[in-house]
Order: sequence, then C-alpha cells, then structure tokens
Amino acid sequence: MCSVLKITALGVGGWVSHPSFGQSGYVVSDGKRNVLLDCGEGTYYKLSACGINIKNLDYIILTHIHGDHVLGLPTLAQIAAHENLSLKVVTLEEVFKNIVKLFEVLAIEKYLNHISFMELPLNDELVLEDDLIVKSFKALHPVLATSLLIRIGEYRVAYSGDTAVNKDFLLASEGVDVLLHEVSLPELYDSLKIRIGHTSEKDLKDIVNIAKPKTFIPVHFYMEPPKVRLDNYLKNTKLVYLLPCSSVVIE
Ligand SMILES: [Zn+2]
Repeated sequence: MCSVLKITALGVGGWVSHPSFGQSGYVVSDGKRNVLLDCGEGTYYKLSACGINIKNLDYIILTHIHGDHVLGLPTLAQIAAHENLSLKVVTLEEVFKNIVKLFEVLAIEKYLNHISFMELPLNDELVLEDDLIVKSFKALHPVLATSLLIRIGEYRVAYSGDTAVNKDFLLASEGVDVLLHEVSLPELYDSLKIRIGHTSEKDLKDIVNIAKPKTFIPVHFYMEPPKVRLDNYLKNTKLVYLLPCSSVVIE
C-alpha cells in the first residue's frame, strides 16, 4: 500500500518573531499517527484553526523548555481534562521536571494527571511503536535541548529544534525525506549564533549540503523568513516554506 507523509505547520516563528508566524509546532502524520513536534504558545488555538482535533494527537514531543516550544502545553492539558483524554508527552526527563514546575507555578498541577510522560533518552532512541522510533541528539543551545530524527512508517523526518549547526545530527540525518531546520537569524546577526545557540542564513548551505534532505523546510523565523539562494546547493533538494496551517504532502 502506498502511504503518504504530511507535515502541517501550526507556527513557524521563534519567541521573538513576526506575529503572523506563530510559535513552534509541527504535526507529522503518516495517516496512522499524528505526532506533534513542540508546543509553543497558542498551540490549542492553532490546532483548532488548522482543523486538527486534539483527540487525534498520538504523541507530543518536546525538544526543550524554552517557552516558544512548550507554553501551549498548559492549555492543551486543560482541554485534555475537559475531553477526558490523556496526552502522551515525550521529552527528556529534565525537561519534564521543568514542565511539572511550570504547572505548579501556574497552579494547575492537577492537570498533570492528563499527561502521560514518556522519557526520551539523550543521544539514544525511544521506540514508541514498531515503526515509530525517535532518536535524540543533544543540541547546541544554551539550555538542555534535543534535535530529533524520527522514523515514522517508511519515512525519515529530522527536526533540529533550536540549535547551532550540529554536524553529528546532520550527518545522521543524511538523505532524510524531510528536514525541518531552524534558521533563526538573518545574516546580519550571524556573529551571535554560537553564543545564543541558533543558526543563521549563512549556515543554510552547510545544513543542506551535509544532510542532503529530499525536502527542506526552514523554520523558527525571526522577523522575516530566511533568504535562500536557489543555486547549486539546493539542486537535489526541494525547498518548502510553510506558514501556519499550511501542509506539505510527501509521497
Ligand atoms: Zn530555545
């Protein structure tokens, strides 16, 4: 049977970004499973606006504790309680400990009962289902963060989360069907990228040349999307820009 992979963006911006971009959230679906990658502010609204029912989310994978990646979770947990659901949240143990603290500060710790935590080991794999496997790579970011390589059905999807250029992750991702990679900074701010653990427009060439993805989706924009040169280095890679609620389907 021929399957398809669908990636839907809920938000493609970072914490400081153009308001129309929204904050991090990507739904990866192979028709059997819907996996939400990160859960930035406004995720519940964006799911509703994009026609995705919270009941149909099988897993939520969080890359790190920064707010533009997790601040949608408190609302999702309360909606899950309202709908009598349990959300499967996959993340590093330390990230989940901080989620618990966040719920305590917000005085909503009782809604943790509607979260089923699944520990993602650092620099190792977690088998969620026979054909749904997540591998984490320690990201180059000021807080503990992971990049992800996901096998879902017959597809491989790589997601950088927030990181400066990480060759280990990109080499492991070589030839993936889809690479979602952050390009947070315009070239103007390139000198900041190592200190703040992000990637700039200047890095695009290296990212694509090392990982050689079939489809490349730049994400986590600052005030405007990165400027991408359509010359040699993207010859064998399809470039796709997603905006909130838009999808790309890969056959
Ligand atoms: Zn971050």
